[in-house]
Amino acid sequence: MHAYDDQNIFAKILRGEIPNDTVYEDDYALAFNDISPQAPVHVLVIPKGAYLSIDDFGERASAVEVHGFYAAISKIVDQLNLGEKGFRVIANTGHDGGQEVPHYHAHILGGRVIGPMVS
Ligand code: AMP
Repeated sequence: MHAYDDQNIFAKILRGEIPNDTVYEDDYALAFNDISPQAPVHVLVIPKGAYLSIDDFGERASAVEVHGFYAAISKIVDQLNLGEKGFRVIANTGHDGGQEVPHYHAHILGGRVIGPMVS
């Protein structure tokens, strides 16, 4: 696994060096609207800690951080009223997964039928 690069764009957003359209924030997660939305709702949720990917997060994050991150996703889903109609969460990972930004992020997509899992 590569080392974490603290110059990635989401690290800069966490440090306040680049603006973002915040949807939700707490001690464990920041959520903001994707700059290039692929659905009516397209929110990115990132942990506050320096983790490359979902597997890095699962391996190195504390239980409190892991719980805090996924509890934040539940709060965002509630805040955006996505629970009744449903939504999709995607964590692109590494080269084959199409991950562009090397800071773990969960895409929350909703507001319409999202369609096939893989096109
Ligand atoms: P991934 O391909 O899973 O790494 O997704 C990266 C996502 O970050 C893409 O959907 C981009 O549109 C989004 N993105 C890149 N830069 C920004 C930014 N400054 N603010 C919000 N979203 C961004």
